Amino acid sequence: MLIDRLTARLKLAEQENAKRQIRVRHGVDFASNDYLGFSQREELKRAAKATIDSHGVGGRASHLVMGHTQHHELLSQQAAELFGYEAAMVFSSGYAANLGIIATLLTKGDRVLHDRLNHASLLDGGALSGANFRRFRHNDVAQLRDFLSRSNEPTLVAIESVYSMDGDVADLVEIQAACQEFGATLLVDDAHGVGVIGHHGRGASTAIKPDILMVACGKALGSYGALVCGSKELIAGLSNFSRTYVYTTALPPAQAAASSAALALLQANDSAIATLQSNIAHFRYCAEDSGLLLSASHSAIQPIHVGDNTRLMNLAEHLEAKGFLVGAIRAPTVAKGSERLRISLSAAHTPAQIEQLISEVRRSDLI
Ligand code: PMP
Repeated sequence: MLIDRLTARLKLAEQENAKRQIRVRHGVDFASNDYLGFSQREELKRAAKATIDSHGVGGRASHLVMGHTQHHELLSQQAAELFGYEAAMVFSSGYAANLGIIATLLTKGDRVLHDRLNHASLLDGGALSGANFRRFRHNDVAQLRDFLSRSNEPTLVAIESVYSMDGDVADLVEIQAACQEFGATLLVDDAHGVGVIGHHGRGASTAIKPDILMVACGKALGSYGALVCGSKELIAGLSNFSRTYVYTTALPPAQAAASSAALALLQANDSAIATLQSNIAHFRYCAEDSGLLLSASHSAIQPIHVGDNTRLMNLAEHLEAKGFLVGAIRAPTVAKGSERLRISLSAAHTPAQIEQLISEVRRSDLI
C-alpha cells in the first residue's frame, strides 16, 4: 500500500517531466560542487589514505561513545580558528547539521524566519523543531525587518551565504544588523560560500560573524561532512542534545582527515582559490560576449537562462552528447519561465573547456 502510493507519485512526476534520472554520467564536469577541484588533490587523498591505514574505513560508533577521534578534534579546532570562532564541531553531513542545529535550538512557541530560497535541510530543521515559521522574500531585508519587528518570540533567522540555484550572495551585513537590532539569532549556511567568496575564499565569516556558521565539507572543500562554528556554549549544547549528532555514527576519521587537509589548503591561500576566481570572470566574459542570458552571480554557480523545460532538457542532452555535464534546473524547482542550465565552475576547469562549453551552447540553436 505505502510502496504503491510512492509508485503512483513517481508516475505523476514522469507525466510532469519532473522525474529525476539517476545514472552514471561521463564528460567534462560542470555540474558538481567541487569548486576548487580539491576532491582530486593529492593532499586530501594522502591524508585520507594514511588515516584509513591507521584507523580503518568506518566511523565505528557515535561521537559520544567511541567515534570521536583526534582527527575530528583537530578538524574542529582548525575550523574554529580559520573561521574566527570560539569552538566548532563536526557533523556527518550538511543536511544533518542544519537539521540538528535548528531542531535543537528551537521549540514550540519559537520562530524561524527563512529566506524563501533556503535549502531543504534548513526548512526541514524548522519543521522538525515545531517552531512557527515564515519565509521572507529572497534576500529582502526590508521584509525581514518587518517580520522581526512584529513579534518578540525567540527567533532564529536562517539564510545561505550563496544561493544554490542563482549563485547570488546574501546581503550579509544588513541581515546581521537587523538580527542584532531585534535580538534574533543568525544562522548562515556557508555551503556554497566557503572556498568561493570572502577574503581568500574563506566565505561569509570574513564579512560578518553570524552566531552560527555551517560549512558543508562536500562542496569546495572536496570532502564530506560538515562543520558548525559558534560559541563554546553553542557547541557544547549541540554536542549533547543534537539528535543528528548524538544518535548517528561519526564521520569516518579518514574523511575528517581529508577535510583537515582541505582547510590547510584554504589557510595557505592555495592557488586554486585565485584560479576559480579567474575562471568565473572568464566564463562571464565569454558568455556575455556570446549573448547568453546570465544572472548577477559572481560565485561559482552561474545560471544560463533558457526559460522552457523542453528546450532546457534538449540543451542539456545536446551538451552531454558533446561531452559536457551541466545541471538542468526545471520548473517547479524554479519558477516557470526561469528554467536554466546551472553551470558550476571549478578551479579544475581550463579556460579552453569553458570556451568550448559556451560555444556548444551557442551552436545548439536551442537558446
Ligand atoms: N545546505 C546547502 C545550501 C546545500 O546546497 C546542501 C547540499 N545540497 C546542504 C546544505 C547539505 O549538505 P550535505 O550535502 O553535506 O548534506
